Amino acid sequence: MFKYCLECDWQRSTADGYTEKEVSEKAIEHFVETGHTVDSLRLPPPIVLQN
Ligand SMILES: [Zn+2]
Repeated sequence: MFKYCLECDWQRSTADGYTEKEVSEKAIEHFVETGHTVDSLRLPPPIVLQN
């Protein structure tokens, strides 16, 4: 999951090591604190290398 702000350069992504829950919580926090609109993209699942 990738969430980003439409009004500033705020963003959080599960690709940065956050859980989906943390990304959602931080997005809500950002909205509450700033009133900015946060949009989200759902990323494809990470590729698991199989050896
Ligand atoms: Zn913002």
